Order: sequence, then C-alpha cells, then structure tokens
Amino acid sequence: MVGTVTISIEIELGWGLVRFNKFDKLSENREAETRHLSRLLDQCEEYDVPITFNIVGHLLHESCDGTHDGPHDEDWWDVDPGTSVDEDPEFYAPDLIDDIRSRRTDHEICTHTYSHIECNEVDPEIVRWELNRAQRVHDEHGLGKTGSIVPPRHSTPPSDVLVDTGIRTKRTPHYKAHDEHHPATAVGKLYDILFGSHPAVEPAVRQGVLESYSPEYITFAAPFLQTGTSEPHPVYRSIPLFVRQRLHERNLRQGIDAAATTDSFVHYWSHLYDFSNEKQWPQAKSFVRQLSEIQEMGDIRVRTMKDLQYEYEQRAPHDDLSAQAQQDDLCPTREVGQPKPANAPLDHSFDHDA
Ligand SMILES: [Zn+2]
Ligand SMILES: [Zn+2]
Repeated sequence: MVGTVTISIEIELGWGLVRFNKFDKLSENREAETRHLSRLLDQCEEYDVPITFNIVGHLLHESCDGTHDGPHDEDWWDVDPGTSVDEDPEFYAPDLIDDIRSRRTDHEICTHTYSHIECNEVDPEIVRWELNRAQRVHDEHGLGKTGSIVPPRHSTPPSDVLVDTGIRTKRTPHYKAHDEHHPATAVGKLYDILFGSHPAVEPAVRQGVLESYSPEYITFAAPFLQTGTSEPHPVYRSIPLFVRQRLHERNLRQGIDAAATTDSFVHYWSHLYDFSNEKQWPQAKSFVRQLSEIQEMGDIRVRTMKDLQYEYEQRAPHDDLSAQAQQDDLCPTREVGQPKPANAPLDHSFDHDA
C-alpha cells in the first residue's frame, strides 16, 4: 500500500491579512518569511520533497501605481500601497518566487488569485478577471500555465470560471468531500486540531475540477503554536510549549501514517508566515526529512497538486472531465448573495482562514 502526501503553502503576505487587521502577523519587512522560505527550500532540495506554492499574483510585481483595471468595487484597491518591493515588501515579492524557481526541486507555483479575492463573495466576472490577470502575470514571469488553485479563505469559485480559465485542480476543505463532515461543535474542532485528525480522502472530480481535500485548519504548521508573530489562542497557551511542539511533531507524523495505512491521500497546508518562527520551524524541518525517508521505504509518495491532476488524467481521458462538468451536480456552486450552506465554516475563533 502506498499513500500520497501533498503539501501546499500559501504565499500571500499582506494581501491575505491587511483586510482583517492582522497585518502585524508578519515580521518586519517580512524578513522572517523570506528567511524561512529559503530554509524550507533548502530542506526540500536536500530531501527532494516538492511543494505546491500557491501565490497571490500581485506579489510577482516589482512595483505598481496602486490602481488596477478590474471590475471590483471602487475601494478594493485602497489597500494597495502603489509603491515597490523596496518600500512595501509585504505586497510585492518577486524575490520569493525567484527563490522557489532557482531550486532543483520540482515545486509547483499555482494561484491564490491575483489580489486575494473571496471567490463566492463576489460576482463571477471578478473571479474570471482575477484568474486571467494572475495568469498574465505568471506568463510575464515565464511561469507557464497555472492549472491549480487554492481559493482564498476556503471560498468556492464558480466551476465554469475555473474550467474556462484552464484550472482543473483545487484544494477543498475536507468536509465538502463525499461522506466527510464538519466537526459539529467548537470542542470537536479543538480536539481535531490538537490531536491531529488528518482526513485521508481520495481526490474527486466535481463539475470538471479535481478536488484535493485538506482540513480547514492549518496542519503543516500548528494553530496551537505561535503563527507568524502572533501568540496562539489562550486555550492553547494553557498547555506548556514543549508539549504543544511534541503534539505538532506527532500530528505531522500521524498524517503520513493515515495516508500510508489507508492507501489514501493526505493534504497538509499552511501560510508561509505561520511557520516562519522558531516555535514551528524545527517540526516543519524534521517533517520534510521524515517524508523523504518514508518515501524511500516505499510507504508514501509526495505529489504536488499538478501531479495529482496529471495522474488523474492518465487514468481518465480529458473528455470525461468536460462531460462531467456538464452533468455533475453533486456540489452546485453557490450563487453570489445566497446564504452560506449550513456546514460552512462560520467559527473563525481558532484562526484557520486560508
Ligand atoms: Zn498594485
Ligand atoms: Zn489566503
């Protein structure tokens, strides 16, 4: 039996935080994030572990004038500093993408939209603009076609827009998978976070897009340790730090075991800033080594989202995906303005937004 492990890391920096008054999660001039990305890339290179980096497209710019011609609400770009990477490195980061590309490891660089838009909170035409604009800036940097998306804040992009813009794989919260459930209570969620429930779920195609399932809370980094510069929720702080670090280590290992023993798929994720501190990094570092060792033994394989799509297409001819896009109504896209479904994550008190 061989399990499959996927890791996706959000590189969004200021774009994912500034609208939620969480900008100070980042280190000064994002120096810790720059350094920890480099440390992660070193470790991945040494152990040949590929990662899916999903990036906010705007970060690829060296500079801009603060206005963009999208169909967004008028005030959408108010947070855009309209400066350059030297002045506001939290909003421009081509150096980080260059670092990823300079490595021998076959990492994937895919999209987290152009400006961190919540895909089911806006008109589908805005999502279409965002994905086309992100692709354009990827093209300008020679990054090639983006075939995967991690939608910001676990939002649900309109499937027809994804298919039209050539995106065939997305990361999806596991409770949306067939037969999987959202924890019913906050205590249930807390238990899952602390004791590492790693749902092992095979990716499935819905409405023409392959869904790779991950928990809605971060798992590559631990929510019960310092994330970025922020201390964790007081409930977690009541547990001694060394115990929480051992839990993190154990939970990372448990996901590998869950994938291997059930011959299934486990998808870890976090933001770059989450593990960019000394409370998280030691566990992340040894996890990459462990993945490689267990892969050597033949119990797991590490695959990017792009690899999952490729392997799926080898098994199912491409035409089938298009046919399914028209027929499959298992998970209809929510229209703008409709209420959130009952099982949508409403409780953000433990801070696990993508
Ligand atoms: Zn801009
Ligand atoms: Zn995000």
